Amino acid sequence: MVSRTTAQRYAVIGGGISGLAMARMLMEKGCTATVFEKEGTPGGLVRCERVEGILYHCVGGHVFNSRNPEVMEWFWRLFDKQDFTHATRHAVISLEDGSLVGYPIENHLYQMPKELRESILDDLLQIAGEGYPEDDNFNDFLLHRFGKTLYHEYFAPYNRKIWRRNLSDVPLNWLEGKLPMPTVREILAANIGQTQEMNMVHSTFHYPKQGGSQHVADTLASGVDVRYHNPVTQIRRENNRWYVNEESFDAVIYCANVKDLPDMIQGIDIDISEVSTLEAHGTTSVLCEIDSNPYSWVYMPSAAHESHRIICTGNFAASNSPVGMSTATIEFTLTLTREEILEQLSRIPFHPRYITHRYSPYTYPIQTTETPGIIAGARQKLAPHRLYLLGRFAEWEYYNMDAAIAAAMKLSRQLLPT
Ligand SMILES: Cc1cc2nc3c(=O)[nH]c(=O)nc-3n(C[C@H](O)[C@H](O)[C@H](O)COP(=O)(O)OP(=O)(O)OC[C@H]3O[C@@H](n4cnc5c(N)ncnc54)[C@H](O)[C@@H]3O)c2cc1C
Repeated sequence: MVSRTTAQRYAVIGGGISGLAMARMLMEKGCTATVFEKEGTPGGLVRCERVEGILYHCVGGHVFNSRNPEVMEWFWRLFDKQDFTHATRHAVISLEDGSLVGYPIENHLYQMPKELRESILDDLLQIAGEGYPEDDNFNDFLLHRFGKTLYHEYFAPYNRKIWRRNLSDVPLNWLEGKLPMPTVREILAANIGQTQEMNMVHSTFHYPKQGGSQHVADTLASGVDVRYHNPVTQIRRENNRWYVNEESFDAVIYCANVKDLPDMIQGIDIDISEVSTLEAHGTTSVLCEIDSNPYSWVYMPSAAHESHRIICTGNFAASNSPVGMSTATIEFTLTLTREEILEQLSRIPFHPRYITHRYSPYTYPIQTTETPGIIAGARQKLAPHRLYLLGRFAEWEYYNMDAAIAAAMKLSRQLLPT
């Protein structure tokens, strides 16, 4: 429980979407906020750069949308709709035989080869007759919810590439609400009615006409006191105040990686060392020129290579690539050398041509059954000292940008209720 505070001067550590949104919300409530950002530009995971004239989403392509009306209202007060395109998601799954089936796969069974279709139908009828068992892990959930054919053709190989672990070790409690969990009836209805998409947050999305997700970060940062090239290595509690890089503050909002926090804190005697057990995945994001195509995302369960997804970032905005060129980022949940990437690309559809790549060690927080308790325990110890956690790797939450903004709204309300 966050204590009420009248603190006026806030230090925000981390200039990603969470830190920038939080700083703006504090300023909207009449407070002063100073953001400390270790890099030279804002954005964190949404950062983009131009490489050979192509917009490179350094960590992975980012689009924006939200089902939360309050988040949308806040967002469109800051941004001009004219500066964004509003696109419909056009995602496909590339099957082992090279054929493309619409995404999500369970809505597009009618596009699959006859033999697979028949086999999936038999599985679904069997599930309908037997009902769903009480599953406690991701592997069993996939098998029992979609049947063995879809499990073997798509769900298991695709998710193994992302998770890089035994899917039986992934707890289901964390995935609830984040995964589509259609019933057999819903799957059959979607296919009979040829419903293209599930009601997912990015079925349609907003994307800046210029600058990609960097435009979002830059706009959020404008007018905010952001200290770039300012890595925080120590925060000190003294006389009921916090000292961040020797500046004094009433309270600190920590939006960087919570695993770095125990070594930073000085002046209070608390133990949050349990956060060191938290695990994450990293991503290698490879910028490529690819064959011209109409897609936004291509999902790849194929065992022939290690990448799970092509994000066709060049298709998101005309300004993202030079005229006549098609570009994308290709994701691997692995660290790879340039040579290994080149070898992998030769087996990936749409003939990707390597331009550059980057590995980011923290992209996907891994949640176990212990994670919520570890974060709640740290919060409880930190909040009485006016140190608050916010953001994807501060809270170890699988936030999209809109969820990060919603979390900032919630925290700003708790801190400053009026
Ligand atoms: C591959 C990928 C694709 C995604 N696609 C989408 C999408 O399409 N749409 C969507 O809405 N969301 C998407 N997301 C989620 C989105 O990236 C996050 O929700 C959002 O960027 C989280 O922002 P954050 O501020 O919490 O964290 P971060 O972006 O990680 O920000 C943390 C900031 O802290 C800084 N920092 C770290 N340590 C220090 C320090 N010691 N001192 C000072 N600064 C420090 C970092 O440089 C960084 O700027 C995607 C995520 C990934 C990984």
